[in-house]
Amino acid sequence: MSLEIIHLGSGSRGNSTLLRTDETNVLIDCGFSLKQIEKKLIQIGLDGKEIDSIIVTHHHGDHSKSAKRASIKWDSVLHSNIETAIKMGWEPMEVCKTFNNLDRVECGVDFSFISVPIPHDNADNVAIITNSGKSEKAAFITDLGESTLELEKYIQGCKHISIEANYDQKKLMNSAYPDSLKRRISGRGGHLSNYQTGEILSKVCHSELSSIVLCHLSEKNNAPHLAESEVLYHIGEIFDGKLSISKQMGPEFSNFI
Ligand SMILES: [Zn+2]
Ligand SMILES: [Zn+2]
Repeated sequence: MSLEIIHLGSGSRGNSTLLRTDETNVLIDCGFSLKQIEKKLIQIGLDGKEIDSIIVTHHHGDHSKSAKRASIKWDSVLHSNIETAIKMGWEPMEVCKTFNNLDRVECGVDFSFISVPIPHDNADNVAIITNSGKSEKAAFITDLGESTLELEKYIQGCKHISIEANYDQKKLMNSAYPDSLKRRISGRGGHLSNYQTGEILSKVCHSELSSIVLCHLSEKNNAPHLAESEVLYHIGEIFDGKLSISKQMGPEFSNFI
């Protein structure tokens, strides 16, 4: 039994990742229009009705846009924490199944996840740590201004890590953005720079980590080669797996663990 991870697209204009086991299809985030997400699923041979669960990390539109409509149309279970459900105006237990952070949630017979709170704007955002098959863990971490000890504890031992590398520090500081926006993006509630992502990965990298996907790159303040070289600067000597970058328009590639 294995877990297939397909990035359907990632960035400020929408995020969604498909996780497939033998028995279960789960989306983490549904931040595209319903039409776009259905088109992406068709491209990989899936019908929306085959999606069992949709996990929404936080209420920002690029993660939640069509989640409710998709869950109704496809008859999928919508999951979020209570704070996000309230911010979305979803009726807990009626529209969505709410979870408590750090509690294990079973989604089907061969898939479960834990949500770990992470700091981001006025959102109650979570990283998602999944468990499938022979207790193999994968982590999905986007939209956070900085790491936490708790997060680093939970992502130890993962075979796959998808993590945002939002901006290049120099590019952001030299950009035409107003100072207040620069401060917000680089602050505790903003996003991770390539450097911060490299630092986090250097703390949790181990010989069994088989793949890393860098996500949510800013189109204005980052570039794939900058993110990749910064991360490799931190982990190049210890990481022996596959490093990829998820762009705004997916699906592009699969990782298996
Ligand atoms: Zn966000
Ligand atoms: Zn986002």
